[in-house]
Amino acid sequence: MSEVLTPESPRWNEFVDALDQAGRAGGCHHDHRLAKRVMTEMGNIDIEESLVFFESRGGFCDCEILINVDPGFWGGAGKAMSKDELSEAAASAEAAGIEPVIGSKRIH
Ligand SMILES: [Zn+2]
Repeated sequence: MSEVLTPESPRWNEFVDALDQAGRAGGCHHDHRLAKRVMTEMGNIDIEESLVFFESRGGFCDCEILINVDPGFWGGAGKAMSKDELSEAAASAEAAGIEPVIGSKRIH
């Protein structure tokens, strides 16, 4: 049985980590190619339904999935980030070719 990935999924962190790594390596291509590859490699995931879910949460490309769909990517919803966490998040975004603007909804 295949699973739709959401932030509540037990494998969500595994997905986000792999997507983050893939983004750092090649940057975002303004589509879902990295997310599709990661989900394919993870296996047992309903890729089409997961992408529909991502788009419903503002994840229209790989970097937007990290920023808009993952409530923990910027340090957790509603939780203030420490200076170290902020600079780490900014460095991570920069490495992935993302403009590190917190609160931004559309990247492209
Ligand atoms: Zn993107």
